[in-house]
Amino acid sequence: MSPFFTIFATQHQAKIRMKIQQEKIDRLRELLARPEQRIVIVSHTNPDGDAIGSSLAWAEVLRTMGHRVTSIVPNRYPYFLDWMPGIGEVVVFKTDVEGQATQAIAGADLIFCLDFNAISRLEILSDTLAANTSARRVLIDHHLSPDGQFDLSFSYPESSSTCFLVYCIVEALCGTDAITRRMAELLYVGMMTDTGNFAFSFLTPELFRAVAVLVEKGLHIPEIHNSVYNAYTEGRARLFGYAINRKMELIEEGTVAYMSLLESEMRKFQFQQGDSEGFVNYALTIKKVKMSAMFLAHRKFIRVSLRSRGDVDVNLFARTYFNGGGHKNAAGGKSFVSMRETIEHYIRSVREFAEQGHLG
Ligand code: 5GP
Ligand code: MN
Repeated sequence: MSPFFTIFATQHQAKIRMKIQQEKIDRLRELLARPEQRIVIVSHTNPDGDAIGSSLAWAEVLRTMGHRVTSIVPNRYPYFLDWMPGIGEVVVFKTDVEGQATQAIAGADLIFCLDFNAISRLEILSDTLAANTSARRVLIDHHLSPDGQFDLSFSYPESSSTCFLVYCIVEALCGTDAITRRMAELLYVGMMTDTGNFAFSFLTPELFRAVAVLVEKGLHIPEIHNSVYNAYTEGRARLFGYAINRKMELIEEGTVAYMSLLESEMRKFQFQQGDSEGFVNYALTIKKVKMSAMFLAHRKFIRVSLRSRGDVDVNLFARTYFNGGGHKNAAGGKSFVSMRETIEHYIRSVREFAEQGHLG
């Protein structure tokens, strides 16, 4: 066990306190010491609230230090994040006709990689980032098994979100006085969404202390909740009903669920990116269900989303059967065969996973 983690058990559960190593903070301080550097922040494909929140908050911190910052994501973020302060400045690589992203990466002194664990997770942006050789790369992330392509790595899978990790880094680097109301709102989005509204793992006292500080900065929690969770379209609400009623299937005596959506079905409900967010979690509201999958058709492949309860490790499942990864209770991957074949592969894989004792 690393000396940097303090483990202490309570009567009901073991708690892991995250402690950021001082030498990493010192190294980060050194990297940021020269003013007016050109800095790029990149985050993962299909950016979510944690990816965008952490990128924008970190960008603010860096600007306060006098750096020039460009935030880049491979493709569009969901429309229900459109309200986020500063989101207009995020360069979406897929639709970046002026080449702003490529230029910023080529001219960067430093590149921060937020909320993902391997350059390949940038998909269409991977090659552009891999081609840049001069800039130092810093990882700030909470996914399991990061790869070694970084000069400095803040990899803390025991952090419930990258936003909480950014909060801890800012606290260690410059103190919480540096946190503005705007940053508080941005950071809270990731803390809230990645913990499923404070219902998943790693809900440490430190996380709630951080939230308390954000509230002191002027964060209005109901406003953020409303902006993120009550901002869908009518089409999304109806698609949700359709998916649960018509497309959810249960296997393994009702303990494993899956759901699929074809492009034709998504079109029927005027699907927009982000509309299927939360669908995969819903099956876990059924008491018996321990693991849930969602298969979402894209033009060239099927995106696989996996969720689980307790000890069921979908990170392992995603790595073994769908060439993916993520966290223990939330992971994803891809499938390059038809929907029917993908579902058959899933059912077979679940069987094998159960036979190996991974379903408890
Ligand atoms: P989601 O289902 O919300 O898209 O993803 C759940 C988690 O799994 C996220 O933390 C995400 O980063 C991770 N994930 C999703 N797809 C992939 C993938 O193709 N490869 C890897 N390594 N992780 C993924
Ligand atoms: Mn995250």
